Formats: sequence, C-alpha cells, structure tokens
Amino acid sequence: MKKRENYLPYGLHWINNKDILAVNQVLKSDWISNGPAIAKFEKKLADYIGTKYAVAVNSGTAALELSAKACGVEKGTRIITSPLSFVASANAALLNQADVDFADIDKESFNIDPGEIEKKITEKTKAIIPVHFAGQCCQMNEIEKIAKSNNVAIIEDAAHALGAKFQGKKAGSFGKAGCFSFHPVKHITSGEGGAITVNNEEIYKKILMLRNHGIDRDAKKRFGKNGDYAYDVKELSRNFRISDIGCALALSQFSRIETFLKRREEIAKTYNKAFEGLDGIKTPKTMQGIKHAWHLYCVLVKNRDKLFKFLRGQNIGVNVHYIPIYRHSLYQKKYNLNPKDFPNTEYVFKRILSLPIFPKMVEDDVNYVIAKVKEGLKEVK
Ligand SMILES: *Cc1c(COP(=O)(O)O)cnc(C)c1O
Repeated sequence: MKKRENYLPYGLHWINNKDILAVNQVLKSDWISNGPAIAKFEKKLADYIGTKYAVAVNSGTAALELSAKACGVEKGTRIITSPLSFVASANAALLNQADVDFADIDKESFNIDPGEIEKKITEKTKAIIPVHFAGQCCQMNEIEKIAKSNNVAIIEDAAHALGAKFQGKKAGSFGKAGCFSFHPVKHITSGEGGAITVNNEEIYKKILMLRNHGIDRDAKKRFGKNGDYAYDVKELSRNFRISDIGCALALSQFSRIETFLKRREEIAKTYNKAFEGLDGIKTPKTMQGIKHAWHLYCVLVKNRDKLFKFLRGQNIGVNVHYIPIYRHSLYQKKYNLNPKDFPNTEYVFKRILSLPIFPKMVEDDVNYVIAKVKEGLKEVK
C-alpha cells in the first residue's frame, strides 16, 4: 500500500461545532474562570460514574496529587502503584514528599498484579494507586480486599478509563478517589484538565479546599453582592482550578461519550480480527467482567523497535506506553531499582506497541494501519 501523506497520531481529540458554540458562550459571559459550567460538569461526571461528588481540576496530574494529599499521603508514608504507567501515577506520592513502591504487573492484562501489591504493603503504606491500563479495569475485587484488610486507601488512576467497568461498576467509583484526565488524547477533553470522583464527604470538602490554595471558602461567596472579605488559608496548597472555558468544552464533549466509546471499541475489534493468529503479534486480552474503554490499543510484537521505526516511517504515530517509571532518571536517582525485579513489566515494555485509536479515525485510517502492520511484520522478521 502507498505511504499516506499526512501523519496519523495514536490519539486525537474530536471537536465539533457544538463544542465551539459552548465555549463561545462562556467567552461572552462574565465567568470565564470560576463559572457555572464547572459545577454542571462535576454533577454530570459524578452521576455518570456513580459517585456522590466530583471535583474538576486543571489536570489529571493535579487530580492524583490532590487525591493523595486528601487521603493522608505525606512525608513518612508510601504508596503502591504500577510501574507501567505515566509518571504522574507515581509522582502523586513524590509531590507530597511521600515514597513509592512499585508492584509488578500481570502479563495478560498489563495491569498491576494484586498478589504483587500484597508483597509490597508495609506499615507505612497509605494508599494503593491502581492504573486501569489502556482502559481495562484492574482486578478491583482483589485490590479492595487487600486495601480493606490493611487499612489503606485506594486512589484509582482512571485517566485511561472514563466509561470502563469492572463487574458492572464504573472505574472511578471503587476508591476513596477516582482520578480522570481530560488531556486531548483522552476520551473527552477540556484542553487541559482533570477531575476527581469521590463518595466520602470529608475527603470531598478537603479536595475542594486544596483545589483553591487551601482556602476554606469559594470565590462566589466572597465576590457576590452580600459577600464579605473574610477567608482563611488552612493548609499549604496550590492553584489547581480549571477554567469555565475548559469545563464548557468538557461538558459539551461529554454528551458524546457513548459515541466515542463505541467507536473506540469498533476500532479495537477490527484490529483484533485483523491481527488474531498472525505470527509475531499478540492482540490485547480483555479479562472477564470488564467493559473496556479502549483509550489505548496495545499489541505485543517481536522486534518492537524495528517495527516502531518502520511504522513511523509510514506516517503512523505508533507509540510505547510506557517506559517503566523506575527506569526514568528521577526514579533511578531516588530508588535505584533493578529492572530485573519487575520481570513482567520488563517483558511487556520490550514488546509493547500502541497503534492509533481515536473516535475520529475513519475506516481508511484503520485499514491503512492494518495493512502497514502486516507489511511491517514481514519486513522486520
Ligand atoms: C494522562 C495521564 C495522567 C495525567 O493526566 P494529565 O491530565 O496529562 O495531567 C495520569 N495518569 C495516566 C495513566 C495518564 O494516562
């Protein structure tokens, strides 16, 4: 097949005219920062996930940092997370002066292995941060058991998993906090942004306060006609606020979440069918009881680096999710972990390849990827 002219990324947002109108409306209003779209979006997200509350913030990273802090992750405590993730999952601890233990993954699901979590639990463990890799939920029944018997919090990194389910229950509704990202490659976007879903009222209130410099009152109460100037800074925090512009975009995008999820699933199924049984490639396995959100479509391949180069050369934005977190300089300097202690993560890291998957992809794009992967597999044999 002839090489395509334009570059096909691995993920891409899909903005339509309704989205643009929604943003325009906010731009013409008096509230472009702390306005009504935020609460509307939060309500919609909480209803969708099935939690009492949701708090929108300015990134998925902020959601993780804030959730950790609200759950008591601080100096002297530790969290356990998956090494096969974006660095933000682990940074949630470091940003709170706490430490990280990595638990090896399961080779089939690419998710953290509950048995490995158990091995890493100590007196100091304050939270487990399971990452629902690619949009497939972790084994939440087992993780819940471990968390309960050891009295540690679960903070879900659900950045890949908006709309995913484990045994009928949505990702983001299991833990003390569920963290989402609305970066443009994720399921819906607010430009930059994130959110935390919460059931516990105390944690909810704490997160609200931490979102806004640790201030105990919100701006509307202060700036209104009957407001007064008094407020108190209770704790050290930062500005984690999202704009009304971003939330209007996310809200408008959210109305198409089912369409987005359906299209992602269709593409994944088409890939599965095309690659099933081919030599040199292993399709991703969906475990029992899972509704997959397909943020990523990851295969395991022979000669990954060669195939990566070949496909990039064909204008396909393949990617590697992820370089294990313990391999990054920051973590090497801090913990000097031996990759050999994470055999499954290393096995997957050496073979994994993300193929383009996003709702705006058309049939021709999908077929092009399939044809080129097949070509590539022969080429790099
Ligand atoms: C995207 C992502 C984040 C961070 O989200 P941002 O909005 O980019 O800060 C955290 N964890 C995982 C697994 C992600 O994919």
